[in-house]
Amino acid sequence: MPASSRDLAVESSRRESAGSDAAPLRVAVLGSTGSIGRSTLDVIAASGGRLRPHLLAAHSSTEQLLDQARQFRPRWLVVTDPAAAAEIAAASLPAGTSLATGPEALDELLADPAIDRVVSAIAGAAGLRSTWAAIEAGKTVALANKETLVMAGPLVMRRAAETGARVIPVDSEHSAIHQALACGRPDEVERLVLTASGGPFRTRPRDSLAAVTPEEALRHPTWSMGPKITIDSATMMNKALELIEARWLFGLPADKLAVVVHPQSIVHSLVEFVDGAVIAQLGPPDMRLPIQYALLFPERIAGPARRLDFAATMRLDFEPPDLERFPAVRLGHEAAARGGTAGVVLNAANEEAVRGFLAGAVRFTDIAEICGRVLGEHPYQDKPTLEDIARLDAWARQEVGKWVCV
Ligand code: NAD
Ligand code: MG
Repeated sequence: MPASSRDLAVESSRRESAGSDAAPLRVAVLGSTGSIGRSTLDVIAASGGRLRPHLLAAHSSTEQLLDQARQFRPRWLVVTDPAAAAEIAAASLPAGTSLATGPEALDELLADPAIDRVVSAIAGAAGLRSTWAAIEAGKTVALANKETLVMAGPLVMRRAAETGARVIPVDSEHSAIHQALACGRPDEVERLVLTASGGPFRTRPRDSLAAVTPEEALRHPTWSMGPKITIDSATMMNKALELIEARWLFGLPADKLAVVVHPQSIVHSLVEFVDGAVIAQLGPPDMRLPIQYALLFPERIAGPARRLDFAATMRLDFEPPDLERFPAVRLGHEAAARGGTAGVVLNAANEEAVRGFLAGAVRFTDIAEICGRVLGEHPYQDKPTLEDIARLDAWARQEVGKWVCV
């Protein structure tokens, strides 16, 4: 039987990563000051020299970035906001670390052959650009920035196949699916089931959701994450984006993707095979495991992620999502099925609506309402180019501006 491209990829990276005396993998961490970025540095610090930071990039939190530079001594620090970069005094850089400024400089540095792995963990649509640069350079990308695939999934996956780049998911659900898929062949997959915590309002009555405040929505019951994705978890728009992400990452039609609510966030997702076998990956909610998996795949080493305690009583509950109270999930199924420009429009509308919600300009329940309208009214294109995607992103943000004035 001919080897699948996945088998070949596994084989070549097994050779690359074999043994603890293998050369360290040099890592570029994009968004190093964020929640995923900081967890990535934990993984690197605990890797016993297997992983080495080569480049750290952030937008404007320069103090934190400089602290990271002093601790990790990367070759490059990149600050994408030129105004923030201008505040860094050359003397504050550790010896051996150079500073680069702006997104163009970051794109260029990502082509450096010294970089073995790129962690794409910039928040939001801004992450597409640098992920694309890493894909162009044929890198192995540990992808946390789900927006990359939501906005431009078909283009990104096609370009990766052309340049030899690999995309390994960091999103915990997709990481679980990536791991479970190893139990069968692609044509044996019946469906992928993404788990969702249900967020802080899983049991909240529908008529009280409009009054939810940003403070309440920012209190996630199981995961500690950046503010934007935390609001998305509360509306369940995060699951909508993840359905679209899964659609392109795994190349399966939308009707093979399902969502189940699992409040404990221990089962990270499941794959059902044609014979009815369901394979899941379990672990405490701790992003350091999927980050390490993506950085070292297919190698597994002891790491800093928390462990399940089977000596304690553990409950695992599952329930179907309530699409009336969380209409965002329906929008995700719809956008995954339509493809084309549906993902970029849904994502941009949501980013703006969430910004409006955090600024007190729109109600919690308006977020999905606004997104549904903008998605329904947008000038759909089946096969957008990167330019079309940028145009539709801007268009959707402008449309949301008609509802939100902040
Ligand atoms: P965060 O807000 O904590 O951090 C964002 C990082 O991106 C920061 O380092 C910031 O400096 C940088 N950044 C922001 N805007 C930028 C810009 N315009 N240009 C360059 N850099 C910029 O976000 P996070 O929670 O770490 O999430 C990062 C990505 O990972 C998002 O796409 C999110 O959906 C995804 N993700 C996060 C988690 C999680 O547990 N936090 C889980 C799954 C997926
Ligand atoms: Mg996730």
